[in-house]
Amino acid sequence: MQFALLTIDGSDLGAAQVELLQPSERGLLRGQLVCRTCRGPAHFRRRSTNGNAACFAARHVSGCPEAVLSDSPWPEPGDEEVARWEANENVIALAIDGAEDATEPDDSTARVRTPGQGAHRYARTGPAFGSTIQRGATNLLRQLVNWPTFKTSSVNMRLPSGELVPVHTFFSRVRDASREGHVGHLRGFWGLVHTLDDWNGRGLWINSPPAYNLDSLRLFLPSSIHPAIIEKFGLASIDELRGRYVLLIDTARISGGNRFMADVYQVERFATIPKPENDPND
Ligand SMILES: [Zn+2]
Repeated sequence: MQFALLTIDGSDLGAAQVELLQPSERGLLRGQLVCRTCRGPAHFRRRSTNGNAACFAARHVSGCPEAVLSDSPWPEPGDEEVARWEANENVIALAIDGAEDATEPDDSTARVRTPGQGAHRYARTGPAFGSTIQRGATNLLRQLVNWPTFKTSSVNMRLPSGELVPVHTFFSRVRDASREGHVGHLRGFWGLVHTLDDWNGRGLWINSPPAYNLDSLRLFLPSSIHPAIIEKFGLASIDELRGRYVLLIDTARISGGNRFMADVYQVERFATIPKPENDPND
């Protein structure tokens, strides 16, 4: 769409106007733009390299007429980011030791002067060739859920051991995990929470498969980590995980009861986000 509502002062803002702003000024608009019709959160999208004009993308409330007019899905800007990381051979450092989400996408973006466009024009080039981008569990889960090309990308992850593993190998949907592929490897397992089953007050099994099914990955959240999860993600109770996406980063193993499982004891190795309204994974 070509116009969005600026919530700070209730004014209409055109994409062509926003395009003329400097990146720092544009940054001030983040979180302040909504669809004029349904008030769904909106964001500015730059002119694309294949000639599409600058516009706004929004997460519309279902039935919003603006959604029908806009043919661009919400996640596209993220896919541009992934393409840039692949082209620049960037490496994603897995931040699971307390430094989570220290690097926001735009903080890692180099701004360079573009010759011939005046002294104050800046071009966005993405992180420098070969440079490292630090990502914690929460940002990684957002990227997995909202950016269709991230989960299949060949961008390398650097694990705490120093090992490099491509994104498409490091992350697995819970339902796709297998003993052969995952036991003994530090990996990120993600999916939607359908059921939570209490285990003698010691913790919760997520989406626990039937007892006879020993091949499906079982995710376990010990009770000791529940308070940290509730606080970090602003939940009223641990039961609110139902219906949300979760990511557990762990070395999958075979338990004493011959169960294929993963569990987390540090909140830095766990993330949860609400299921998006227009979920690209449905
Ligand atoms: Zn709308």
